[in-house]
Amino acid sequence: MLAAAIFSAASPDGKLCVDFSYSDESALCYSISYEGNGMVSPSPLGLVANFADFTRLTLKNQEVSHKTVEYDMDRIKASHVRREANDIILHTVNPDGRLLDIEFMIFDNDVAFRYLVPKDSETGSIRVMDEKTSFRFPEGTVTYLTPQSDAMVGWKRTKPSYEEYYELAAPMDKKSAFGHGYTFPCLFKTAGGWVLVSETGVDSRYCGCRLEDFDGQGYKIGFPMPEENNGNGTIEPAFALPGATAWRTITVGSSLAPIVETTIAFDVVTPKYEPRHRYETGKGTWSWILWQDPSINYPDQVRFIDLASAMGFKFSLVDSYWDENIGHDRIAELSAYAQSKNVSLFLWYASSGWWNDIVQGPVNVMSDPIRRKQEMRWMQSIGVKGIKVDFFGGDKQETIRLYEEILSDADDYGLMVIFHGCTLPRGWERMYPNYVGSEAVRASENLIFNQHDCDLEALNACLHPFIRNAVGSMEFGGAFLNKRMDKNNGRPDANGRVRGNIRRTTDAFELATAILFQNPVQNFALAPNNLEDAPAVCLDFMKKVPTEWDETRLVDGMPGEFCILARRHGTTWYIGAISASDKPVHVDVKELEKRFGGKATVISTSNGEPVLSGAGKKPFVISANDGLAVTIEK
Ligand code: CA
Repeated sequence: MLAAAIFSAASPDGKLCVDFSYSDESALCYSISYEGNGMVSPSPLGLVANFADFTRLTLKNQEVSHKTVEYDMDRIKASHVRREANDIILHTVNPDGRLLDIEFMIFDNDVAFRYLVPKDSETGSIRVMDEKTSFRFPEGTVTYLTPQSDAMVGWKRTKPSYEEYYELAAPMDKKSAFGHGYTFPCLFKTAGGWVLVSETGVDSRYCGCRLEDFDGQGYKIGFPMPEENNGNGTIEPAFALPGATAWRTITVGSSLAPIVETTIAFDVVTPKYEPRHRYETGKGTWSWILWQDPSINYPDQVRFIDLASAMGFKFSLVDSYWDENIGHDRIAELSAYAQSKNVSLFLWYASSGWWNDIVQGPVNVMSDPIRRKQEMRWMQSIGVKGIKVDFFGGDKQETIRLYEEILSDADDYGLMVIFHGCTLPRGWERMYPNYVGSEAVRASENLIFNQHDCDLEALNACLHPFIRNAVGSMEFGGAFLNKRMDKNNGRPDANGRVRGNIRRTTDAFELATAILFQNPVQNFALAPNNLEDAPAVCLDFMKKVPTEWDETRLVDGMPGEFCILARRHGTTWYIGAISASDKPVHVDVKELEKRFGGKATVISTSNGEPVLSGAGKKPFVISANDGLAVTIEK
């Protein structure tokens, strides 16, 4: 489609252009080019409201202004963000004369847009029946996507929870695995570079969206599936007028660096409340990952609190069934014990609910506004610092409202919140000051469950910095130092059997993931035996590695093949390098010393064991399943 542009706007540096045009069907379209290369082809804008059809929009006029976005954050990939943007408000009208505004914020490598629905009649609210917003790409574009799952399937009927595999470098017309399109974020490789599509600013006034399957021209925004949340709640979001939809975000670059380094998910949202408490993020232990359900008892929890204390970690997470197997009274004792060792507890809760079959307790607390507050008051009284809420019902507005209610209530009682079995966070690090992470990824538990996931660990780890973790915190729960993925770590059990999936990666690889995977609270998959059987160089690194970052820079990488990523904490740069590829990856640490300024300490692998060295004269070479953890100090 060759459409004459009716209006064009550029980024502050002039490299990114957004052109507006009309399609043959009279839809208002936007397209994006970067350095002259087509990145997004003309793609329709518009929505269908319950009271009016806004799919054939005419641009009346526009307002253009310049905005500076500046803020500090302690829980994303950067601690201080300052960005310039051109802000465009398109004033449009439908054939019946109804008004709809569309706001485009155009940054140097990012575009964010949303619909602003005015109140131009007696109508005081909108139900958005359909969003026509589409994303079309030049012919030959390949995709790096993960499918949306069927709803009400899987463990205790808890899906979808953003835990599916990715398909790499697939053609656009390939059908999604389950026929429900793809979950955000969605990565595309065009002839001119890379495009990451996602959304942000999703709160109780909207639903979580996805991309539908390729329709012959591109991908349209999809709303949640009717079956989600056990069929409860509508799929069409509703809000009061005047009001706005969630932001659609598009990050483009001729290389992958702008994708990995983008802060767009946080740039166009604002904090929804002043925090009532000071929240300190950091590292934690959790028994459940390697010791599983039988470890949720008082003595085993003491051992993981002691492990946290020995490692200098701030937290220990008590996972599901603590209500039955430890009980509220003894949890208070456990919390007092933890505090005596300078460790604070996180407690697990099911989100349930009338939306799944979860039996792990505590159930029916976080879904009940009265019990929830009572429970949170109790947690505050015994010094608990956070909760991990698991097994949510999907992406409907009703469920997004529950996320927001939990966060808002938790702030009243000084509790940080981690979500598991959940949706992608969409700007929540900045919107909710006590939000500290979400799973929404095929996370570490799958390494315990399936050898297949261990076999794919390196490949999947080489995806997350470019896709899932690029737009939001990712509570992966990894950095294993056990060679076998169970409690005995290769020692025969009482029946003489050696159990546990076999970890394929080197220790240096696992340490590198502590840098590569960003989440402000990292519950690492260490176990008490690691104090005896893990190399000291690994334990020393895990004691030192931070979870808060001032700056993030992609050094090099290719999704699914390798990743070399640098993050700064204070004056120290931490560089994680990992490979999933048969092609050797060369990491020139001397060059890294020059680029980041300082002296390097390198943890690499020699004869299968982690070794500590300086930069050396030659580049390090890593092959599949291996990695480097580099520290560069001024
Ligand atoms: Ca999970």
